[in-house]
Amino acid sequence: MGNEESSPVDESVLPRTLSGRTLEALAEYMKSGKASKIVVMTGAGISTSAGIPDFRSPETGLYANLARLNLPYAEAVFDIAYFRENPEPFYALAHELYPGKFRPTITHSFIRLLQDKGLLLKLFTQNIDCLEREAGVDDDKIIEAHGSFARQSCIDCNQPYPEEEIKRHIENKEIPRCHHCKGLVKPEIVFFGEKMPATFFQNQSLPMQADLCIVMGTSLTVQPFASLPGMTREQTPRVLINKERVGGIGSGSDDVLILGDCDEGVKRLAEACGWLEELEALWAKTVPKVATDLGKPAEVVKKDKDEALDDEINKLTKEIDETLSLSKWHEEKVRSEAIPASSGNGTLNKASGSGIAVSVARPHENSGGNLDHVYGKQTTAQTLASEGLASEENEKQSGAAAQEGDNKN
Ligand SMILES: [Zn+2]
Repeated sequence: MGNEESSPVDESVLPRTLSGRTLEALAEYMKSGKASKIVVMTGAGISTSAGIPDFRSPETGLYANLARLNLPYAEAVFDIAYFRENPEPFYALAHELYPGKFRPTITHSFIRLLQDKGLLLKLFTQNIDCLEREAGVDDDKIIEAHGSFARQSCIDCNQPYPEEEIKRHIENKEIPRCHHCKGLVKPEIVFFGEKMPATFFQNQSLPMQADLCIVMGTSLTVQPFASLPGMTREQTPRVLINKERVGGIGSGSDDVLILGDCDEGVKRLAEACGWLEELEALWAKTVPKVATDLGKPAEVVKKDKDEALDDEINKLTKEIDETLSLSKWHEEKVRSEAIPASSGNGTLNKASGSGIAVSVARPHENSGGNLDHVYGKQTTAQTLASEGLASEENEKQSGAAAQEGDNKN
C-alpha cells in the first residue's frame, strides 16, 4: 500500500497489460477501449497553474500573507479548535479562495473529458478548490478526500447551510451562523482535528476495480490518500503525471511516468490519444462559464491583471525592502559619522526615498515595515508547525490543509 516498493521497475520486466511503459503504449491502451474504468487521483499540483496558492509553499506567499491575520501559527487557519474561537482568519482566506474566482486548468478539463467519454470511474482529489466541479465533473464522480467548499454546515448541530447565503457572507466578509442553533457555519473542508469524509472510506477500495489509474499533481505524502494507487490490481497500468516521481509509481510492471509540468503532460497524453482538439475545446468553455457564474466577466479579466500586478509588486516590495534595510543601515552609519545630508548623501537619499515610496504604497499589506522579519518569523513558525503536524497528521489520517507537501507545479 503506502509503503510499496519504491525502486523503479527493472527494465527486463515485461509489462503485463500495456505493450510498453511509454506514453504511446498508454495512449494505444486508452484508445483501444480497454481502459473503461479510470480512477484519477489529484493534488495541489493540478491547481497551481490556475493561480490557487500551494498552501505549504513559503514562496507562494499564502502563509506569509496570513501573517497579517495574527495567527499563532499558520496552520491555525485550518484548525477546528482555533476556528471555534477565531473564525475570522478562515473567512478572510475563504474570501480569497472561494470558488468562482479561479478558472479550471486544462488538467481539470481532461478529467471532464474522461467523464464525457464514459471512462471515469472516480476522481479522488485532495483539493478543496472545487475546480473539478467548475470544469464540469459531476458530483457523484468526485471524492473530495479533504472536503471542499461544495457544501457547508453548522459545526455544532451539523445542519446544512444554504449555499447562496454562505456565498453572500463570504463576499461581504461576514461570519455565517446556523439558523437552528446559532453555531458557527463552516464549509465542509476537513480541518485539523476533524475526520475525513465517510465517502472517502466508502470508496477507498474502488481503485481495485479500475483498469487504469492516473495520478496527477500530488506528492502522495498525506495518508491515507497516498495509499490509493497501491489499491489497484497488479496488472492495472498506473500513470504518473507530475513534476517528479512519487509514491512508488514507476515500480510496477505497467507504470508509466510522464514527468514535468502537469498541464503539458496532460496535453501530450491527449494528443497521443487523438483527443487534443476535443480537450482544448472543452477547456475553452471554462472561460465563459466562470464569467457567467460570477455574473461579472470583466472582473475575471481584471483579477488576472491584478494578480499579475500583485505578483510584481510583491517581488518589487521584497527587493526594495532588502535594499531599504541596507540603505537604512547605511544612512544611520553615515549619520553617526556626522556627515551633513547634502550632496555627498544625495544618491543614498534618493535610493531610500524611492524605496519608501513603494513601501508606503502597501504598508498595511505587510503588517508593518520590516517585511523580512515577518517572513522569516513566519517561515520558522510554519516549519515547526508542519513538523509537528506532519507526524500527528499521518496518525490522525485527517488533514485539511490538505495541500501538505503537494507538488508546486
Ligand atoms: Zn447549528
